[in-house]
Amino acid sequence: MRKKIVAGNWKMNKTLPEAQTLLAEIDSFIQLNSPKCEVIVGIPFIYLENAKAKHKNLQVYSEDISEHRSGAYTGEISAEMLTSIHVDGSIVGHSERRQYHKETDEQIGAKVKIALDNGLTPIFCNGELLEERKAGKHFEVVKRQTEIALFNLTAEEIVKVVIAYEPVWAIGTGETATPEQAQEIHAYIRSLIADKYGKEVADSVSILYGGSVKPDNAKEIFSKPDVDGGLIGGASLNVKDFGSLINTYK
Ligand code: 13P
Repeated sequence: MRKKIVAGNWKMNKTLPEAQTLLAEIDSFIQLNSPKCEVIVGIPFIYLENAKAKHKNLQVYSEDISEHRSGAYTGEISAEMLTSIHVDGSIVGHSERRQYHKETDEQIGAKVKIALDNGLTPIFCNGELLEERKAGKHFEVVKRQTEIALFNLTAEEIVKVVIAYEPVWAIGTGETATPEQAQEIHAYIRSLIADKYGKEVADSVSILYGGSVKPDNAKEIFSKPDVDGGLIGGASLNVKDFGSLINTYK
């Protein structure tokens, strides 16, 4: 059975004291509740080292990674730097990176590959814009994003990738895809993987949903057969909501 995962993406939130408090709260929550899903926190680069040093059992991910190995790339953080401070994985190709930093599918593919080459788990994000959904192009867009970024990988590599479908129109807007809309596109993504790599591989890849997941809508979305958990923005910023999302898998 593939893994069920509840992953937080803090984005550009929290000062150091706030981050330390929340990480300690999440760590205690996990120890008290023994979750039935994997719990991941995606946090700003500058808190990663401290988080891993203090919370060895937490799965700690960066929110991005450089597509380059090393060298003259001012401001970038490499996969090797992340593994040297024991980070577990990286969120890659988030729509905010695509939108504000003009990341292309090819660059995102390079980031996925470099993460895997260094033993980091990539959470690869895809998802369509509102106008693409309105024009009925969401399948086409997600297909392009997925094929370009992932389909140069081997079967042994792609099973290590976590996919997060995040329709851009549902991120931070309070508007969620309906559970049926999420299921439809998750099943489609899985079928693309099955066509390329076979059913066994497709069945072992976790596909998360992201976009305004909250304690009051998570249960229905997570209950869909091809939805393996969530990538959570706003509701990952306090332990009450994040804990309640984790407990969806009780
Ligand atoms: P929200 O949960 O705040 O809509 O954000 C979703 C997201 O972008 C997670 O990566």
